[in-house]
Amino acid sequence: MRLGIFGGTFDPVHYGHLRLAEEAREAANLERVLFVPASVSPFRTNEPLSAAEARVQMARLAVQHNPHFEISEIEVRRGGVSYTVDTVRVIRQQYPEAELFLILGADALQGFMDWREPYLIAHECHLLVGVRPNYDLRKTLKQLPEPIRQRVQRVPMTPMGISASNIREHVRTGRSIRYLTPQDVIEYIQQHRLYREPE
Ligand code: ATP
Repeated sequence: MRLGIFGGTFDPVHYGHLRLAEEAREAANLERVLFVPASVSPFRTNEPLSAAEARVQMARLAVQHNPHFEISEIEVRRGGVSYTVDTVRVIRQQYPEAELFLILGADALQGFMDWREPYLIAHECHLLVGVRPNYDLRKTLKQLPEPIRQRVQRVPMTPMGISASNIREHVRTGRSIRYLTPQDVIEYIQQHRLYREPE
């Protein structure tokens, strides 16, 4: 099986994530893509984060109509700071025969050498990197060691200037988030009064 692993905080999930996962799935002919919401990102230990349950639930709503997409609670169940290498180890044990593909945006690839055990991750997984059509990946690739660089596969993707922080800011300031994330996710945000100032 060709299996994609797509990690993130997903606070909230949005069309940038969904489109990256879809284009990566298509480019690498993946049978399944596991969205893996982090418990706590190693790079954001001081930032407030919505409850894991809410982020998982929103991700579930977002992927419900795509039979190739699934949510994995592996990191939120483990708790604590989520390291991708630990997740990759567990998935490798669960799927010893699978060809693994880690999906990430070009911005995430830039900081890849700061992740825990990047060589082990790249040994186990191809790195599917979503880039804008005219984005020059060369500079980032040049800074990476050869064994990592070799594992990178470029995925040209439709540019989507959407970020979760932008969505949170829109909600906080009372602006519309329509068409930035699926309607079910928007309704979840409204029902649970996420991203608002405490009253
Ligand atoms: P925040 O705004 O809170 O930093 P985010 O929108 O970047 O969040 P994350 O959950 O941190 O979302 O991102 C998970 C992964 O999705 C990362 O690999 C990131 O590069 C990628 N990603 C996020 N937004 C986009 C987008 N609009 N286009 C392509 N890739 C994206």
